[in-house]
Amino acid sequence: MLMERSHSGAMASLAYSSNVKMRLSSTVMVGFGLGLALLDFSSPVDAAPGDGGRGAPATSVSPALLKRPTAAPARQPLETLVVTTDGPSVQRIMPPKRVALADVSCKASALKLDWPLDGAAGTTWTTQNYTDLDPSSGKKDWKGGVGDSAITYDGHRGYDIVVGSFREMDGNKVLARAAAPGKVIAIEESKFDRNLSCASNEWNYVSVQHANGFVSLYGHLKTNSVKLVVGATVKAGDPLGTVGSSGCSTHPHLHFEIHDCENQWFDAAKEPGMWKVPPAQHEVSGVMDIMFRTGGITSAVEIANAVGNQTHYPAGKLGIGLSAGLKAGDELTFLVLNGVIPEVWSWKPTGRYGLHLPSWNLTLKPGATEVIVWLNGEAKIQRSFTVE
Ligand SMILES: [Zn+2]
Repeated sequence: MLMERSHSGAMASLAYSSNVKMRLSSTVMVGFGLGLALLDFSSPVDAAPGDGGRGAPATSVSPALLKRPTAAPARQPLETLVVTTDGPSVQRIMPPKRVALADVSCKASALKLDWPLDGAAGTTWTTQNYTDLDPSSGKKDWKGGVGDSAITYDGHRGYDIVVGSFREMDGNKVLARAAAPGKVIAIEESKFDRNLSCASNEWNYVSVQHANGFVSLYGHLKTNSVKLVVGATVKAGDPLGTVGSSGCSTHPHLHFEIHDCENQWFDAAKEPGMWKVPPAQHEVSGVMDIMFRTGGITSAVEIANAVGNQTHYPAGKLGIGLSAGLKAGDELTFLVLNGVIPEVWSWKPTGRYGLHLPSWNLTLKPGATEVIVWLNGEAKIQRSFTVE
């Protein structure tokens, strides 16, 4: 359930904020300075405040501007959600069809994989689930993580790589790409693509057969986003379709799966060198996106279905939501500059690495407003807007 500050809580926070106001006075200046710096360093894929894009890399900002508020008061817990992103039945829907196996080696060592998504870990996507290597009812990921620490769920046969929200799907911002050269052997792209539950087993996918006979499967794609035909030859990195949420899916993501020559699912992490970049590089804590909602945020679904950020919001309640890849030990710090008194919160997620969708609601006054989010002491995302 979402936590919303009660009247008494708001008063307590206000009082505390008054206490920290003097101590934060330099932070206010830092905050606005930081905002300008972030804007200056925005890359072409970063968007100007108000359009829902990602923040500029904080590493390009002068360290002197990244000074973090040190007086963050304790705050109420944020809503967080680690989702199971597809059902164990999904892989049984469409076993890849094999062609011409007679002339292939079937050697796992002959297949080398690039990561099948655009962008970077932590900012564009988050690895939510690996394959489950426990054949029984338990869970075990490729690193040996078991139980609640396993980055998988029982029976999972692929990799679930989540994106921030449906903004990415709607804008065709994150494409599934061929992990290795091969030939397209199956395509489905007619299915509904906006599921936020395991409502259907009908998904959109592309299957690619590689030179060693193995097949890679790219599932949950956006409707009609595949620009290829069966039989087409693809190079590693060629776009296959847009990451979406068709089929049994609780959040937009790519399900990536490998099958061997016997059509058995295969865990790429178990074959040294199959991934050109080892999967350990994929669990990077980061903030993928920030979104705002007039009237407040009442469920994580509203974060997944985020509309574009605006340059102006009405005074009153505003919900602020994040989609982030986080794990226990991380700490988010939020600074909202609205009116005279800065609002500062910090929050620590619990549990294993994965998607978190924290949100909170606050009441804003008319005026220029800036929101900055730090992760582990590093500024990650900044947005400015006007409250009217
Ligand atoms: Zn999956």
